[in-house]
This record gives sequence, C-alpha cells and structure tokens, in this order.
Amino acid sequence: MITPPLPYSPHPSDRGKQPPAPTSSGPRLVPFITQRQGEDPAPDNLVLLPHTDGQLHLHYLDEDARDRDPRGVLWARCSFNPCDAHGQPTGRPQWKLMHPYRQMMCMQALRCQICTAPARTPLGLIFLAGPHDHTPGAQVLTNQPPVCARHARTAATLCPHLDGNPKVFLAQSAPLHGVIGTVYGLGAHGVQPVAQPGPPLPYQLPDITCFLASQQTRRLHSHRTLDLDQLLHELDASAA
Ligand SMILES: [Zn+2]
Repeated sequence: MITPPLPYSPHPSDRGKQPPAPTSSGPRLVPFITQRQGEDPAPDNLVLLPHTDGQLHLHYLDEDARDRDPRGVLWARCSFNPCDAHGQPTGRPQWKLMHPYRQMMCMQALRCQICTAPARTPLGLIFLAGPHDHTPGAQVLTNQPPVCARHARTAATLCPHLDGNPKVFLAQSAPLHGVIGTVYGLGAHGVQPVAQPGPPLPYQLPDITCFLASQQTRRLHSHRTLDLDQLLHELDASAA
C-alpha cells in the first residue's frame, strides 16, 4: 500500500469531488508526483499583509496550514483528485507536470517520487537528471525528488525529460536548498507577479516572504555521477 509521506487532505474547495473515470490506456504505474487531469490551479486570493518585521508578507485570504511548506513559504494551490484504494491519485496523468504539493511532499521527506517509500539506499540517495537538465555553477541543485532503488529504472522509462538515459547522481546528503516560483508585489492591479527568478530562490533570502512556490529544490552534497547500468550493477552488488 502506498501512503503519502505527510498528512494531507484535499483543500475544502475540493471536498465532494468524485473520482474521474479510470483510464483505459497507458501504463498502469504513474509516478506519485505526476499531476493528473482534473488537478488544476485553484483560484487565488493573494494578499500582502504587514508583519512585525516591517515587511509585507504574501498570504491567502483564507489560508490554512496546508498552504505553507514546513519552512513557512506559501505554496501555489492546485486541487487534488481523490486517491484510489492504494493511496494513488486518480485521473489521466499529465506526464510533463508535477503536482506542486506532491513534489514538495516527496522532496521534503526524501521519499521516492514513484511510490513514496523512503528513498535512501545502501549507496546513498539516487537523483536522476535528463540530458537537457543544466546545473550551472559549482552547486548541483535539483527539483526532481529522489527515487528508491526499486524504481530507478522505472523512473528513467516513465519520465519524459529523462529521455530513457538519465545521468545518475548518487548523493550522501542532499540538504534542502530553496524553491522555484514567483515573487509577488504591489502593482497597478493590486497584488501581482513582479518577478519569476530563473534559478531557485534559497530559503534564506528575505524575498521569500513574498514568494509563491511551486517546486522545492535540494542541493546535492558529496555526490558522484554514474550511468543507470552502473547504478543498477552497484545496487545488485550491495544487496548481495
Ligand atoms: Zn519507489
């Protein structure tokens, strides 16, 4: 049985929705983080409110605890389809999209992006990058949650951006780094997006209080790179 790593329930506006009809085609296994048809951005009601630090902070008017990650950053709202009897989201997969909250759950708790099992292996944490993923600079950052030993090859096959031949990063640690999303501010039309930084924003920056996040990032530390066949060979050897 697949259990979400962190407690969550659909936002109040989603309660009462019926599961979509099962899909009749396509592979049975869909990564937990994949967004499903019918899971859409929820209408926002963003406001900027003064805080005791003298700065304006971004909020939802009807905010609740599920709207922020454990570091307190506001998260983009996206509806949840009901889950099936195995705890997996229902609905046709939208293969190129990650559900913002499920991405954060797996990244935050270092769970496998396919099955939500703890992702740490005897060799370390496995992160996969595609041929078009760039990691400029000295730091290696990723917005792709790890995979467990059982699903390394599955992820390489299922995830379009990995192109079937991922570069494997085997990390001994991967501290949380920051978030990807949009900076909000006050403009002519009230609260509106004012910047969409290309690189992920580190959690420590002051701008984070006006940030609406949609993906969480980790920094790969003490890592080495290898290809998928090498990884599977080393995993087999470590299990022997
Ligand atoms: Zn897995």
